[in-house]
Amino acid sequence: MQQRDAYLIVNAGSSSLKFSIFCGGSGSDLSAIVNGQISGIGTAPRFEAKDAARHVLADRSLDGVGVGAADRAAMLGFLLGWIAEELKGTRLVAAGHRVVHGGTRFAKPVRLTPAVLEELEALIPLAPLHQPHNVAAMRALAEVYPALPQVACFDTAFHQSQPWQSQTFALPRALTAEGIRRYGFHGLSYEYIAQRLPQIAPEMADARVLVCHLGSGSSLCAMRAGKSVDTTMGFTALDGLPMGTRSGVIDPGVLIYLMREKGMGADELEALLYHQSGLLGVSGLSNDMRALLDSENPHAAEAVELFCFQVAKQAAALAASMGGLDAVVFTAGVGENSAPVRTRVAEKLSWLGVAVDPAANRARAARISAAESRIPVFVIPTDEERMIASHTLGVLAESSSSIKAA
Ligand code: ADP
Repeated sequence: MQQRDAYLIVNAGSSSLKFSIFCGGSGSDLSAIVNGQISGIGTAPRFEAKDAARHVLADRSLDGVGVGAADRAAMLGFLLGWIAEELKGTRLVAAGHRVVHGGTRFAKPVRLTPAVLEELEALIPLAPLHQPHNVAAMRALAEVYPALPQVACFDTAFHQSQPWQSQTFALPRALTAEGIRRYGFHGLSYEYIAQRLPQIAPEMADARVLVCHLGSGSSLCAMRAGKSVDTTMGFTALDGLPMGTRSGVIDPGVLIYLMREKGMGADELEALLYHQSGLLGVSGLSNDMRALLDSENPHAAEAVELFCFQVAKQAAALAASMGGLDAVVFTAGVGENSAPVRTRVAEKLSWLGVAVDPAANRARAARISAAESRIPVFVIPTDEERMIASHTLGVLAESSSSIKAA
């Protein structure tokens, strides 16, 4: 029986490891055959997998199969065993990882080597909440399956095309040279949208496009001819829009005040700004946009209003970065699913010529702008996993052709 090539795509977080398995060849041939996660890492690990039609293939505790609560190598070993057992007819040829930070060095995906892994480890201080888990998953996989090629794909890489002024804080140059600059995130999502939009609307290939990635983490990207020219997240994924639990933009003077007057240290500030702020902090109720939209509580309404206000305000700033605006795209959990949020943001951008058609918006059509809208508005589901799968394939092909050439 001929076996199909399969690619394991990994998105490793602090307490969960999300995975997908893609099969097939280049570009549109690639299809996700399994999506799943190992949740409860560190407490009570659980393994879940679903097929493309969302039928449950596995849902079981990892207790009792010799997997320690925080033993990532054993968890990945279990996953590899499951793939070999359950996905007969496929041959795992590589793994692709979502890695939050590529620093200044990695402007594109890279094949993992011990030296690359060390460089990625050195970037942990720049993304302490995500990078350690990304690195741990790559190390663990190398431990259980050393021969499996691994590819690291970066959330920062897409933004390397930005002009100097978008990347630079007005700080002394020595600090900028040390790497204290704006990197931007959600790059794999924006790169996917940059490829997908011209397929849906070919006339947008060279346009100035505002992409609103609104999820539990949210950011905006200004794209010109498919390249990032500016984005709202900066040195960390804290800057820019208010998010589920993150504050977004804040006067840095507030931090100095909190340190001086309330004696807060780095850990407390981190907890405040990453986990207790944003929609959760303002509403006092929830970080979930659905719950806030359904709530009668006035603080929930205020949280939604502050979110939409900041999206529109920062969108206008990014329009200036692009020197104009030709299209708006909504994507990610809130952007794809919440018609009320899209309506509110569009209303606040009406002075720029943005108008959505209520029926198309409710139906989540691909193009939701009203006939009279000067600016076309799109809803495009993002697919970061597919982007990683496609990069993984590309890096493998490159490395096998360079081996042949040598
Ligand atoms: P992540 O940043 O974790 O990838 P997602 O892009 O999946 O997050 O977005 C998750 C968020 O999307 C949830 O927290 C929820 O608030 C929001 N969301 C999902 N569906 C809806 C909906 N129908 N209406 C409003 N918000 C929604």
